[in-house]
Amino acid sequence: MSDKKTAAEIAKRRTFAIISHPDAGKTTLTEKFLLYGGVINQAGSVKGKATAKHAVSDWMEIEKQRGISVTSSALQFNFEDHCINILDTPGHQDFSEDTYRTLMAADSAVMVIDASKGVEAQTKKLFKVCTMRHIPIFTFINKLDRDAKDTFDLMQDIEDNLGIETCPVNWPIGSGKNFKGIYERKENRIVTFSGTEKGTKEGEENFIDFNNESAVLDQIGEDAYEKLQEEMELLDGAGAQFDLDAVRAGQLTPVFFGSALQNFGVEIFLHNFLQMATLPTGRVSGDEVIDPVEHDFSAFVFKIQANMDARHRDRIAFMRICSGRYDADKEIKHVQSGRTFRLSQPQQLMADERKILSEAYAGDIIGVFDPGIFSIGDTVCMPKDNVKYEGIPTFAPEHFARVRQVDTMKRKQFVKGIQQIAQEGAIQIFQEFNTGLEEIIVGVVGILQFDVLKFRLKNEYNVDIILENLPYEYIRWVDSDTDMSSLVGTSDMKKIKDMNDRPLLLFINEWSVDMTVKRNEGLVLSEFRKN
Ligand code: GDP
Repeated sequence: MSDKKTAAEIAKRRTFAIISHPDAGKTTLTEKFLLYGGVINQAGSVKGKATAKHAVSDWMEIEKQRGISVTSSALQFNFEDHCINILDTPGHQDFSEDTYRTLMAADSAVMVIDASKGVEAQTKKLFKVCTMRHIPIFTFINKLDRDAKDTFDLMQDIEDNLGIETCPVNWPIGSGKNFKGIYERKENRIVTFSGTEKGTKEGEENFIDFNNESAVLDQIGEDAYEKLQEEMELLDGAGAQFDLDAVRAGQLTPVFFGSALQNFGVEIFLHNFLQMATLPTGRVSGDEVIDPVEHDFSAFVFKIQANMDARHRDRIAFMRICSGRYDADKEIKHVQSGRTFRLSQPQQLMADERKILSEAYAGDIIGVFDPGIFSIGDTVCMPKDNVKYEGIPTFAPEHFARVRQVDTMKRKQFVKGIQQIAQEGAIQIFQEFNTGLEEIIVGVVGILQFDVLKFRLKNEYNVDIILENLPYEYIRWVDSDTDMSSLVGTSDMKKIKDMNDRPLLLFINEWSVDMTVKRNEGLVLSEFRKN
């Protein structure tokens, strides 16, 4: 049972993940968010494109080289008496599994779309991951200071490609050189844009009541005024009504417009977001929903990352606090192992320094040193409790490769490295059915993860590998007690096992999967690994 202070702290929390296609402006928008609150805490590594805060870890080089965000980080800031946690997600689809895990830790998502491009390939894939959780999705259409697509077309694009209804909260007046500002529908006023703000918080925002026709005309001119009036009539007639319940159920996305670079529309977005987004939501444990306020401390691990900082060579488990208050002085229980201990130096990480914290609340993200006991999806709670959050499902890998070591003398480092990276969930490793670790098969969801594996083994473990691609695309765990040696498959089938000796089958096509099930009575195959 939480005390008053804890309840008040939790009520202030809003935790969201930010998703976009690379280059839509996620980093710029995040930076502007931080301008409003000043960063309080920054957990994990922040990509250092435009920021001065460079992530120090070696393996982040891969990200810099490719210009994609591989890893996720968490940031915290205060705004309008709220405490906001932002979870960054990798923009590239090959890391959608990582995005999925991050989304598990968020209560809502903010989707950034480039106004000149509309919905792009990766937004689509990441969005799909989002809808699997039915969390509220807020859309920020960015780069209005550049020539944009027609606004109705943008709405249609979102509805057609993402299958979610849109409800514009505000509406752009022109774009590019003719960008005059936005019209706020509920307030019935316009907010004028002046390109002189240079992206600082101090930039002036000029609000004009839309009923004050002469002032409006003065600001935006006759053409823009007429166009806006027409568009509003159309929108009021045909667009979806705002419905907070539908927003919270993830069926309707409120849409906002602006320019992150020019810092226009960002504050308005944040202000509205805080009104609409939910507080930390209750999470399911068994057949119970754990109330974030009523229940004592509990959290789950959604991400594990090793060697984030080359100087420390450690492993950090990122946890999302789901209920109560975390107190560094108290012992907690790791539910999966049954062990009780004090979390070692719980921290929120600044870009290159680590801040030890003494307390945190439901909705917050903390990073703790992992002595090697945490797995993704694990729960921690108070010793007296028995909370066990639903695990985070593992995506079925779609690409497989055999890994060979160049220098066989470095066997130990190789095995350690590859196991470590697999524990972080970036790759899945398997063995030939009849052998030990000498033959390792790696499965990944996105092929870029092969590159990450190669890069990290080289950089963190000084091990060179050769990856030999395998033609398999389908993986199935054997859930029945079928005797593997007598199992009759198709000629393209391969028997393997995971690191827990559970048998699996690899196939080249779906036909072979069906055929194998038909040929073996009682054989039960599943696409997902049960944790
Ligand atoms: P991310 O890959 O989604 O994180 O995108 P970034 O925030 O790094 O932005 C990609 C590029 O677009 C950078 O060059 C930004 O300066 C630029 N950019 C971001 N927001 C805006 C905007 O509102 N207007 C314009 N003109 N450029 C922007």
